[in-house]
Amino acid sequence: MIDINIPFICKKCGHQVTPAELTCRNHCTQCLYSLHVDREIPGDRASTCHSLMEPIKLDQNSKKGFIIIHKCLKCGKEIANKVATDDAFEALIRLSQKSNLNQA
Ligand SMILES: [Zn+2]
Ligand SMILES: [Zn+2]
Repeated sequence: MIDINIPFICKKCGHQVTPAELTCRNHCTQCLYSLHVDREIPGDRASTCHSLMEPIKLDQNSKKGFIIIHKCLKCGKEIANKVATDDAFEALIRLSQKSNLNQA
C-alpha cells in the first residue's frame, strides 16, 4: 500500500498541510493548489510531472458532492478532486465565483 495521506508543505503558498481525516489529501487547504502526482486515478501517484496544479473550477457531482477541477500548469492535465471538509471556505467561494465567470 502506498502511503498517500501525508503532511506536506504547499509549493504555492507555503502553508503546512496536515493529513485529511477521511480522504486522501492532495491539495492545499488554504489556496487549494495541488501537485500533479497522479496519472489517472486520484492516489495512484504514477505521474512524473510533479508540477503545480491550479484549481480552475468548482463542480458538483451527484455522488461525490463538491469537487475541485485542477489543471496542471505544465502539461495541462485536468484532474477532479473531492473537496475536503477543512478546505478554506473563502477559497472555495472564490473558486465557485471564478467558475461562474468562466461559464458566462
Ligand atoms: Zn497553498
Ligand atoms: Zn502535469
